[in-house]
Amino acid sequence: MPNILILGGTTEASALAAALAERGLATTLSYAGRVANPKPQPVDVRIGGFGGVEGLAAYLRDAGVTHLVDATHPFAAQMSANAVAATAQTGVAHLALTRPAWVPEAGDRWQYVPDIAGAVVALAGPARRVMLGLGRMHVDAFAAQPQHHYLLRFVDPPREAIGLPHRDIVVDRGPFTVESDTALMRAHAIDLVVCKNAGGRGAEAKLIAARALGLPVLMIDRPHLPERTEVHDVAAVLRWIDHTADRGV
Ligand code: NAP
Repeated sequence: MPNILILGGTTEASALAAALAERGLATTLSYAGRVANPKPQPVDVRIGGFGGVEGLAAYLRDAGVTHLVDATHPFAAQMSANAVAATAQTGVAHLALTRPAWVPEAGDRWQYVPDIAGAVVALAGPARRVMLGLGRMHVDAFAAQPQHHYLLRFVDPPREAIGLPHRDIVVDRGPFTVESDTALMRAHAIDLVVCKNAGGRGAEAKLIAARALGLPVLMIDRPHLPERTEVHDVAAVLRWIDHTADRGV
């Protein structure tokens, strides 16, 4: 019988957990532990890092995992690299459930930067009103451009002080709509949006809002990941589990 570990922290991971629970398959969903109250899940949940590649490999062996589905966020590069290495080491079947990257449409004004550091450099210049569509952990890097007024949106109220002299903080875990994001950008007189190319529908509203308002976007490219097999929907994961379970994985 398959015993599945989902690396989560995304909407896709939760959707997969629901589908596997419905099928009655042994499933554990793993969270890094960054969010204070993750939403309840219909499968077993574990929280916290594994302790690098070795820790994950030990977990896979000890828990008797047969299938690992990496459904982490496309910017969770360390976890994804560890998953590739630990499954190679243990022979556990590996698949990534990912979202295609966003691509610009007519009316979009995107400037691409390779990473967070690139976004910080690109913000050199006169003061602007910037919406930073990034997680809490990346915000401090923008202290190197303290002249701007930043609008920050987090899932939880920040526990530590934010090192940006001019900022407004909105606490909201969505879902976000084009209407509410447009209203938010207008209310804060935003003139530039910074975001990671996460892909997917959930976080897309801010891009559509930026397009509607004619605002430029600093788009941070995805990090490089090791070669792996990727699918983009839950049905494909279910087919893969059926197929590999038949082969006796
Ligand atoms: P990361 O930089 O790739 O991972 C750093 C470390 O956090 C990993 O080495 C691992 O620790 C631990 N970790 C990450 N994801 C884990 C998981 N699902 N289960 C158990 N441990 C995990 O990841 P990150 O960018 O900090 O993202 C952390 C979590 O937030 C992920 O679950 C991701 O899906 C979610 N998330 C990230 C973003 C983003 O923009 N990065 C956005 C939305 C949600 P050990 O080495 O000790 O195992």
